[in-house]
Order: sequence, then structure tokens, then C-alpha cells
Amino acid sequence: MSRLVVVSNRVSDPRKSAGAGGLAVALGEALSANGGLWFGWSGTVVEGGTPGEGEMHTHHSGNVTLTTVDLCREDHDSYYLGYSNGVLWPVFHYRLDLADFDAGYIGGYRRVNQLMARKLMPLLKPDDIIWVHDYHLIPMAAELRAMGCKNRIGFFLHIPLPPPLILAAVPQHEWLIRSLFAYDLLGFQAQSDVEHFSSYVGKEVGAEALDKHQFRAFGRKVQAQAFPIGIDVDEFAALTHAKEGRDMYERMKKEFSRRRLLLGVERLDYSKGLPQRVRSFRELLKNYPENIRSATLIQIASPSREALDTYAGLRQELESLCGAINGDYGELDWMPVRYIHRNVSRKRLPGLYRVADVALVTPLRDGMNLVAKEFIAAQDPADPGVLVLSRFAGAAEQLKEALLVNPYDVHGTAESIQLALQMPLIERQRRHQQLLERIRSQDVHWWRKAFLTALAECGQD
Ligand code: ADP
Repeated sequence: MSRLVVVSNRVSDPRKSAGAGGLAVALGEALSANGGLWFGWSGTVVEGGTPGEGEMHTHHSGNVTLTTVDLCREDHDSYYLGYSNGVLWPVFHYRLDLADFDAGYIGGYRRVNQLMARKLMPLLKPDDIIWVHDYHLIPMAAELRAMGCKNRIGFFLHIPLPPPLILAAVPQHEWLIRSLFAYDLLGFQAQSDVEHFSSYVGKEVGAEALDKHQFRAFGRKVQAQAFPIGIDVDEFAALTHAKEGRDMYERMKKEFSRRRLLLGVERLDYSKGLPQRVRSFRELLKNYPENIRSATLIQIASPSREALDTYAGLRQELESLCGAINGDYGELDWMPVRYIHRNVSRKRLPGLYRVADVALVTPLRDGMNLVAKEFIAAQDPADPGVLVLSRFAGAAEQLKEALLVNPYDVHGTAESIQLALQMPLIERQRRHQQLLERIRSQDVHWWRKAFLTALAECGQD
């Protein structure tokens, strides 16, 4: 069996990743199966270091080797904050208005990808299978190929791929897509992402479509397919029943015995549609006053990328909206919105999901959205809550029994929230059962096996 090499921006120790989230666990399992190497940035930023250089660290965790590289401040700021999160993240989430096309960032992005490739190359064995993750590392395979790497290399994009005309706003769009042809397999979250890739390469680079999934251009053949990422449903259900999950459930259930709980959980990111969601909640209170003193929105928005101005601005907007609703509708003994700008421990989160009558997962654009799947996994099948889900989340392609909404339509979303609050038990049960089957049939284990099987089978000819 070939050894697996995973390359991602951040690396986590499989032995310490219990409870760290499905992805870390799934990749850890894939690596442990036949021994493997996990390679990426160490998370350390060296003040005043030399651009394009970084110290390498290696340690072992069972049969998995973890190798990481430090980045100097200049490289980190241009590669991570600048190009990855200031250009690619907003554009790939359709937010051209928020992109910062500073011409200086691309140099750092290339430099770090070259640095990573240079450090990884001597560690590779001829039959290693390489799996690169996400938008930080798009040119990784091209850099490795330029150094003579002949290994099979797959890439999975965790965020959406936008349609050609939006992608074309990135000054380096042709270079980015050409870089993708250095891979053998491209995995996307949703069918719509594959369609965007297909139409881009057809229109912009005149690629030959060998079939629905295989494209030839730049002297190489690449296969592009959707592999919707899932969660570890059993692990999540177990967390719901473990002590901390249960304690959380019992405490909150008592409090919400006579009130309705609407729940939102995410990083504080502009892709998540938070201001629109809070406005929809306000519309609900306005149009359906029976919810006043009853429906309470708990919005947990954990701090994220605070070094970027757009994120600081969003925080202010959200906090002022929440404050205004509480000022307008709050009573001495009831506040409509509880906004929490912190992480909730992964062990307690499932208990909170289980108490919620309605989950509001309403991103303006999202590659997949795992919160939607976690909410389903945590429900009591006898009395499940309702998932209100944005049609612009990748998860909407799978989770058809959710109440799908357009988050830009504040009025329509409020109507759907009211429907969710009023939904009869039998319909809640029916929808939940179907949703549970969907997240079970394509869980995180299915995802990694499906990707790695396709990678093992595809190749150049
Ligand atoms: P993204 O990758 O854009 O953050 P996802 O919904 O795909 O969005 O994944 C988010 C993951 O992070 C989920 O596993 C979710 O449980 C976790 N998470 C998000 N926000 C919080 C929070 N405030 N506290 C604890 N966990 C969170």
C-alpha cells in the first residue's frame, strides 16, 4: 500500500485530535491506516525572519509523521492574511466588494507555496500518494512538478469555486487554474463547483472535455468531481450523550421549557450572513408578535481573522444590530438576542443543538457548512428541531428536506422561520429522519474513502 502524504495549511496531531472536529479525525485515520506524513505550516510566525525561508520541525505520533515549517512575518502576512484570506476567500465566496487586490500579496503566496514544496520534496518516496487541501495551497502541485515530482497528487477545495466571470476578477485567475492542471484529481464540495470549473476551463483555456469529469489542457489530464464533505455522525451523536453534552442539554432545556430557542453557531465571518439573519429575526418579531417574549435567538459567533479590517467592521455591525433589537423588543425578564462572541466547547455544543427548536444556518455562500450536519446528528429523533438552511450553502445540494431559504430575502427567511416554529411533530420527524439518512450515507469516512479511491484509480495516460 502507498503511503499517504497530506498537505494542508495547518497540521493537527491525530492522537490529540479527539474532539477536534471531523476533518482532523478523518485525515488522522487516513494517515494512520498505512502510516503517513502530514505536512504544513507550524502555526509559528517568526518576527523579522527571511522571506521564503522557514525552520522545519518533525515529530511522530504513532505511525504518522508530522512535519511543519515556520513562516516569517512578511510571508505569513502576504500568503495567509493577504492573498489567501484577503483575495481568494472573498472572491471564492462571491464578495468582490471585500477583496483587497494588493499587488504585493501574490509574491508571498507563491513564495510560501515554493517554500513548502522545496521542504516537502526531499521527504517524498516515489509511490507516495499526495493529498493537498484548500485555497492556501492551490499551486502546491505545480511547484512540486517543477521540481520533478511524478507522484499522484490530489487536491480538495473546501470552499466554493465561483463562476468564471467572478473568478476572472482575480488578476492571477489563469495562473491559478493552470496550477490546478498539475493535479491528477480535483475534489470539490458541490456539483455547482464542478460545473463552474468545467465552464471556466471550457471558456477561458479551451480545455478538451474528455467526459463530464475529465479535462485535458496544458498537456495534462485532470479529473474533477464533487465529494461533499461530511461529519462523523456517530462521534457527534456520542458527544450529545456524553456528560458535558447532557449537562448542557439539561440546563438549557429547563430554561427553554416555555420558550422557543433559535440557534446560530459559526465563526464571525461575512460569508455566514449574520446581519441578514438578525434582520430576519427582527422581521419575525415584527410580523408575528406571538413570538415576542418566547422566541430567543442564541447567536454564537466565534472570533475569526481579527487582523483583517473587514472582520472588525462586521463585528461592529452585528453587535449594533443585536443591541438595537434587544433595545426595541427586550423586556426586564426577556432579551430576544443572546449574542456570544466566543467559542463553545465541542463537547457542550451538541447538547445546545439538541435543545434548539430551530437552527439558523443561513450563509450568503458556503462551501459546505458542517454546522447544518452537526445539528441534524444531535437531534432527538422523537422530537427533532428544524433546520433552516441557506440555498447558497453547499450542504443544500444534499439536505433537501431542510427548509431552504434565500438569506438575502429577509422577509422570506422570516416566513420560513415562522413555518419552522409551527411545524407539526410528524413533519419534523419525517424531515429529520431523511436528513439523518443523508448525513449518514455520505459521512466523513465516506468522503475520505471516496476521494482516495478516485485518486488511486485516476491517472495520466
Ligand atoms: P467554516 O469551516 O467556514 O468555519 P463549517 O460550518 O464548515 O464552517 O465548520 C465549522 C466547524 O467549527 C464546525 O465543526 C462547528 O461546530 C465549529 N464551530 C463553528 N463556530 C463555533 C463556535 N462558536 N464554537 C464552537 N465551535 C464552532
